[in-house]
Amino acid sequence: MKWTNWAGNQVARPESIEDPRDEESLAEVVRSASQQGRAVKVVGSGHSFTAAAVSNDVMVRVGALSGIRSIDRAGMTVTVGAGTPLWRLNELLHAEGLALANLGDIAYQTVAGAISTSTHGTGVRVGGLATQVRGMRLVDGHGNVVVADEMTNPDVLDVARVGVGALGAVTECTLSVVPTFVLEAREVPMRLDRVLGGLDELVQGNDHFEFFWVPHTGWALTKQNNRTDEAPRPLPRIRGWVETTFMENIAFGAVCRAGRLFPSAIPRLAKALPSSGERTYSDFSHKVFASPRLVRFYEMEQAMPIDAAAPALSEIKAMVERKGYMLNFPVEVRFTAADDIPLSTAHGRVSAYIAVHVYKGMEHEPFMRDVEDILRGHDARPHWGKIHFRDAAELSGLYPRWSDFVAMRDRLDPEGTFRNEYTRRVFGR
Ligand SMILES: Cc1cc2nc3c(=O)[nH]c(=O)nc-3n(C[C@H](O)[C@H](O)[C@H](O)COP(=O)(O)OP(=O)(O)OC[C@H]3O[C@@H](n4cnc5c(N)ncnc54)[C@H](O)[C@@H]3O)c2cc1C
Repeated sequence: MKWTNWAGNQVARPESIEDPRDEESLAEVVRSASQQGRAVKVVGSGHSFTAAAVSNDVMVRVGALSGIRSIDRAGMTVTVGAGTPLWRLNELLHAEGLALANLGDIAYQTVAGAISTSTHGTGVRVGGLATQVRGMRLVDGHGNVVVADEMTNPDVLDVARVGVGALGAVTECTLSVVPTFVLEAREVPMRLDRVLGGLDELVQGNDHFEFFWVPHTGWALTKQNNRTDEAPRPLPRIRGWVETTFMENIAFGAVCRAGRLFPSAIPRLAKALPSSGERTYSDFSHKVFASPRLVRFYEMEQAMPIDAAAPALSEIKAMVERKGYMLNFPVEVRFTAADDIPLSTAHGRVSAYIAVHVYKGMEHEPFMRDVEDILRGHDARPHWGKIHFRDAAELSGLYPRWSDFVAMRDRLDPEGTFRNEYTRRVFGR
């Protein structure tokens, strides 16, 4: 059977695809594969652009391990099946008066898939999704169930929060939650110079700030999301559909297709984007953070110390102009708090993330290699789920606790049951 990821740039032909109904059957799949020397990969929603989830041997889907198992209102945590899609979790939590403190810009990923690659949103005072993990259960490379929380195996929890699918098959996660909250979203086009000149104020002055530089223009679209105690004032239904689903997906998709056919028209098409206007609305947090993504693309995103954001973006802009790349997607810049997870892209530093996108079907590698060369000069760490060209030799120098990760992998999966091409490249095995 053929499997492809969301973007269609990764293809797998697994020997077998398993859909275990519970943790015990998943453990049995791993045990039997390990005894036969076969390789196992758990796949979430296939939303990684890298080959992180690719398996040509045993592929395991964890769709059956879904839903809320328990809620601890005193501790403000929720325990969920690892295969729960974030959009479903958001709905279930909302019905309980609860929410996740932050999210990325989509909610199609599974809980385990998202935390495994250090998925993040934006907001300089809040970390990526893995920082919300308080406990987990996983099946190790021999098929044994390992419990990891503050009391039991805290050293496993410490590392396995961002495991890139290489430490075990996660079956359950306990996550911190907060009471539901409303975000007011202000979306304002600004000149890029003004954004970069006032970046510190914009980043520190908003709960969740991000911006998109529109290539071939001097414009950026800024998004400033802040908590409010007022009742939600969402966009009227039809206007919301027109502006979000139609303009950001259907019309934008048509513009991208036109740009793929006639790349030289891209700068003129781009000039139409900044005028798409200013708007303010508010809604429950999960409806503001995440939105539909119907236009498919390839993406690279890398994390750097926050002060590198403005110089790195200026270098990318100059490189795009010098080399004449025709880009029909905005370049996205986000921010997160520092954390202590060994393989988190924000490990030990308050971080800025720069992401570049190329419309599906268009050549992306030369452009992304040029971007990576610039970001390398700013000590940037690639997102584990987004296109990059680094290997273990280089990555090991970017993470001060790399050896802790390698030691944990050797302890949980000494024979490399969870290996694939990607782990060979990024971890050397
Ligand atoms: C349109 C789009 C928007 C995105 N937006 C953001 C964003 O805003 N912020 C951001 O940081 N990233 C973003 N991403 C990247 C995405 O969040 C990550 O690639 C994430 O890992 C995808 O989750 P998934 O469930 O699809 O996992 P997959 O891609 O299927 O798997 C990712 C990794 O997790 C492992 N894995 C999955 N489930 C398990 C399990 N149960 N146990 C052990 N390992 C497991 C896999 O083996 C693999 O190594 C985006 C991607 C797309 C396509």
